[in-house]
Amino acid sequence: MNSQKTGQGTATQQDVGYLASIFSDGLILIDREWRITYANAAAREISRIDDSHINGATHWEMYPATVGTEQERIYRRSMEERISLDHEFYYAPFEVWITLRTYPVPSGIAVHYRDSTRMKEAERNRDDNARRLQQVFDTTTDAIIVLDPDYRITFMNRRAVELLSPIGEVMGRVLFEAFPGIVYQDSPYIANYRRAMEDRIHGRFEAYYPEPLNVWFSVEARPADHTGIIVFFRDITQQRLDAEELWLKTAETERQAAEIETLYRTAPIGLALFDTTDFRYLRLNDRQAQFFGLKPEEVVGRIVTEMAPIEGLRELFEQVRDGHPVINYPLEGELVGSPGEHRYWTVNYFPLYGTDGSVQAIAAASLEVTAQKKAEMALIQSEKLAAVGRLASSISHEINNPLESVTNLLYLIASREDLSLPTREYVDIAQAELERVSQITTQTLRFHRQAARSTWVSAEQLLKPVINLFRGRLTNSDIELEAQFNSQTEALCLENEIRQVLSNLIANAIDAMRAGGRLLIRSHDAFHPVTGVKGIRITIADTGHGMDPATQARIFEPFFTTKDLNGTGLGLWISAEILERHQGQLAVRSSQHPLHHGTVFGLFLPITPARTDSSED
Ligand code: ADP
Ligand code: MG
Repeated sequence: MNSQKTGQGTATQQDVGYLASIFSDGLILIDREWRITYANAAAREISRIDDSHINGATHWEMYPATVGTEQERIYRRSMEERISLDHEFYYAPFEVWITLRTYPVPSGIAVHYRDSTRMKEAERNRDDNARRLQQVFDTTTDAIIVLDPDYRITFMNRRAVELLSPIGEVMGRVLFEAFPGIVYQDSPYIANYRRAMEDRIHGRFEAYYPEPLNVWFSVEARPADHTGIIVFFRDITQQRLDAEELWLKTAETERQAAEIETLYRTAPIGLALFDTTDFRYLRLNDRQAQFFGLKPEEVVGRIVTEMAPIEGLRELFEQVRDGHPVINYPLEGELVGSPGEHRYWTVNYFPLYGTDGSVQAIAAASLEVTAQKKAEMALIQSEKLAAVGRLASSISHEINNPLESVTNLLYLIASREDLSLPTREYVDIAQAELERVSQITTQTLRFHRQAARSTWVSAEQLLKPVINLFRGRLTNSDIELEAQFNSQTEALCLENEIRQVLSNLIANAIDAMRAGGRLLIRSHDAFHPVTGVKGIRITIADTGHGMDPATQARIFEPFFTTKDLNGTGLGLWISAEILERHQGQLAVRSSQHPLHHGTVFGLFLPITPARTDSSED
């Protein structure tokens, strides 16, 4: 200040005084006797100085609490050694923090100081906050570390210390050196830390830390403080195990569900679910839909009695809705999809209960038993036929003996010379008729004698007796017969069974030619069209009305007949079955063309069926 006063003469004492008065820091001058010789406005306020104190009491008298303190020592050193010194202290009487610097001046020392109480408080608050933050960090379940721009670890919370303890002391070390386990090709750690540090991009990832931790971490790397990064991480090993277990369990449940679904869809039983108000299809499987020739989705929503107009069905459903299951109930009737076709089922209907105990839906399982039912009925029918056959056989056997004596007697009569001409003619006619009767009885006998073993026979031997049997009907129906035997090859077969087939075919041909026509019967040597086995083929062709394709498709079904009460519908079914047993074949071609209508049945018989066990007993 002296230099300013004596220097260039531009700043006056007044200027300096003015400056010092608006100066917010305190400024005092102390002389060598420790009297305060000057105090600016700020100093007067901070140190409670007024005019009476200037050049009055000594500093030590004014502020006795400072005597013997560091402050006194600083002042005295500054005064004696002529040096500038800094000091900070708390002045208890005024409850203030003071930060000061001393300057040696010609008259003594100057003290420049300020009230640093606020700053001090702020500092303390900052420390408190840091402490609190540390507490928060230590209690959070996330592990936290802070990396400086050189990837040096500058902070770890308690959880981080715990988690990483198997690695050893890592605080203050460079990350990649402290954690060698994360340094490998394609390491998500490296990539994410670098992105956070260098590109300042926040990253989150999961990664495994191998030996010595063997832990899965979920990691979050956040850029912080403009330069470093904060890494939050937590051990998710158990979570991952749980998730994996859950996944496996879910997969297993899904697999089971798929299995059940497949079973449901492909079961050979019709399965369906119905509502309880209208009995509409809610759900059904493929088999159930097949009953109607539809797809499941085409049936959903339709009413059961519309699809199956079967008597008593609705009542049955009402009974189930009222809580009474129906078990193994036989149902029969026609479905909308296939009118005219009588079908049979065994059904089970169950009520499905909701949690409130009320019936929520009806579950149905239907097994179609039409084929079994028909086979059963066919069996009964063929049993009947066999019984009739046995009866006919025993009757013809009984007739044979008297027939033989009548034949002999007629022969004796015919050999007499004294017969009149008309008598001889009567005897001739009687003999011819008798011949026919005995032929019928022997045929019937041979027909129904249960053949236990196969025999070698030619087509001709097979056909002749059958044709003879039908001669009467052929003439009555105005049918012209043409028989041609082009082969004498013999085949090993159950001849009566084959005769039954031939007789069925000829009978059908005659039935188809009510208004007369031609019956062509031929035999050839032939080979099985598929297996190439050698055999004989017999064709029976008629010029009858023929069949439409729909009829042709069903002629081998049991009980399929177009002849109402005159037919049994069993002939072809039995014939096909007999040929199958002989490893033969029965094929058909038919036409309803107005100009060349008619039907050809081709029968193939192998010379020796591969399996002849039934014939060797
Ligand atoms: P059925 O003679 O008792 O009707 P079949 O099994 O012998 O039983 O024949 C089944 C059906 O096949 C017959 O009702 C008829 O419609 C048809 N059919 C069989 N052979 C002929 C044929 N030669 N010409 C026309 N239709 C035939
Ligand atoms: Mg028939």
